Amino acid sequence: MAEERGQSSILLRARWLLPVTAPPIQDGAVLVKGKQIAAVGKFADLSADTASVRLEFPDGILLPGFVNPHTHLENTCFAGAIKRTQPFNKWLLQMIRLVRSQSFEDAFASAKSGIKQIVKFGVTCVGEFSRLGASLLALKEEKLRGVVFKEFICLDDDEAERRLTELNQWIEGAKPQMGSLLNVALGPHAPYTVTPFAFKRVLELAEKQNLRLCTHAAESPSERQLIERRKGIWRWWLGKVLHKAPLGFSPIRYLDWLGVLRHKTLLVHCTQVDDADIAILSERKVWVAHCPRSNANLKVGTMPLGKMLSAGVKVCLATDGLASVDSLSPLDEIRFAIKLAQEHPKIYPSLPPDQWLRMVTLDAAAALGIDKFVGSLEQGKKADIAVFRVGSQIDEPFEALLFGAGEAALTMVDGSVISSDCQIT
Ligand SMILES: [Zn+2]
Repeated sequence: MAEERGQSSILLRARWLLPVTAPPIQDGAVLVKGKQIAAVGKFADLSADTASVRLEFPDGILLPGFVNPHTHLENTCFAGAIKRTQPFNKWLLQMIRLVRSQSFEDAFASAKSGIKQIVKFGVTCVGEFSRLGASLLALKEEKLRGVVFKEFICLDDDEAERRLTELNQWIEGAKPQMGSLLNVALGPHAPYTVTPFAFKRVLELAEKQNLRLCTHAAESPSERQLIERRKGIWRWWLGKVLHKAPLGFSPIRYLDWLGVLRHKTLLVHCTQVDDADIAILSERKVWVAHCPRSNANLKVGTMPLGKMLSAGVKVCLATDGLASVDSLSPLDEIRFAIKLAQEHPKIYPSLPPDQWLRMVTLDAAAALGIDKFVGSLEQGKKADIAVFRVGSQIDEPFEALLFGAGEAALTMVDGSVISSDCQIT
């Protein structure tokens, strides 16, 4: 109760509210008390509240802050150092050279710069794939919400024990850093960069400590060739990683064989999936983070979104990192996906705008296991909010947001304004 006495309150009013779990509200308002949403509704119904601060956006659309479920903030500084549009195999080799030369301090500065960018895009929460752990500290310093998946690579069983000990030590060291906004989780990099033995050990650790998992899966044709048949361009380089893995399994079937899909796992990319893979993804109820711009830039194929959604696969939308896309904006990702639907109507459906919006808010939060707290504007949820100014003549709020919004006018995390173009006293 002592906490409640000191709580500040803010009433945010906007031309439109998009709550995600309810229809749009014209001339709506959100009352924020402390870190939580205390009420959502028509401004007329909430205006009697004597909030200590009132912010009005007569030209604005207010919605839950975006959740970007797959980022590599530590790679932000690679934006100008790598060719973003090139075949995945060449890109990966260039990336390996870049990350090997990156220090912890460089990764921290890079993550900080990435966070400065994403808050301007209205992002309040990330699923961050962190190689060095530097982005955990950067997120903490910038007071963003997130689930940080610590990257794990193990190309040889002889190194497994040492690498697992390092991972364990990192998790134990990170726990005190977490606070209420951050969770740590495990990020075995991909089925071709972790031996089956080490992958199973990471899974055991995840189960024992109740940690979520995220891995890149079925991203490119080369990965599928390697895992299924030990063929293709990576055979000589990465074949040894898989010499104890069964032959004939697609990447998705292989991950299922390992047991990974029976855990709380988020799979990223999944462009190279067939009907049998899609059936497994649906049955196991794992989340897939779809990154259409990254997939297009690296020429790995188009994810069969239509088939996956029809089969009941749970799909959310992510930007990936700045090494493979040109912005960390979820709205840019949706705009690209809409274009893709026009170009490939047979495999890629035209979804209604509210469904796209859900994929970067509530669905993305569910993929990270935090949809009870964020992802929609609902009483009792954490006050993670974004507002975009789109002009005073707004008849179609979804259209206005998707095609008219630039940078966020306000980004709020946990009841605190972390970026804003208005004077707040
Ligand atoms: Zn990634």
